[in-house]
Amino acid sequence: MDDLIYYLPQIILGIVAAAVFIWVIFFIRELIRNSHGKSTCIHCKKAAEKVSPEPYLFLLPVSFGDKYEDAEQYLPSHMRPIMSTRQIPTGRRACRLEVYGCSHCGKRQVTVTDFLLVRGEEDIKRTYELPYEPFGPLIESWLALRQRQEPSSN
Ligand SMILES: [Zn+2]
Repeated sequence: MDDLIYYLPQIILGIVAAAVFIWVIFFIRELIRNSHGKSTCIHCKKAAEKVSPEPYLFLLPVSFGDKYEDAEQYLPSHMRPIMSTRQIPTGRRACRLEVYGCSHCGKRQVTVTDFLLVRGEEDIKRTYELPYEPFGPLIESWLALRQRQEPSSN
């Protein structure tokens, strides 16, 4: 028992070091994936690849530092398609949506980057990784809007 008490600080230190080590490994893996246009599949944790040819831009009905609850519910029902950051009114937030596909489980997911445009620079508020399905109709309406605005390009 005395031995255990003697070694306890080292045991605790060892456990903490192992936890930090594992976290760092996962963090680095995520960074490497993100820098190669990849993300981590939210369903099976394998690498997911970007499948959308371009980011889709949407306006959000919030301003400056406003917050909202439950992004998975809030975002699909409040995002409105826009074609360019020039269409963002001053102080209003917008978001970029990109689609990722996982070749391991075949599921799709989206990355939504919520940002505020400050003097032409994107001040990123948060990034969400969410299931694809609730955002499918939004991508359809974004593509339909672009087709209406640029009928000659198709
Ligand atoms: Zn997967």
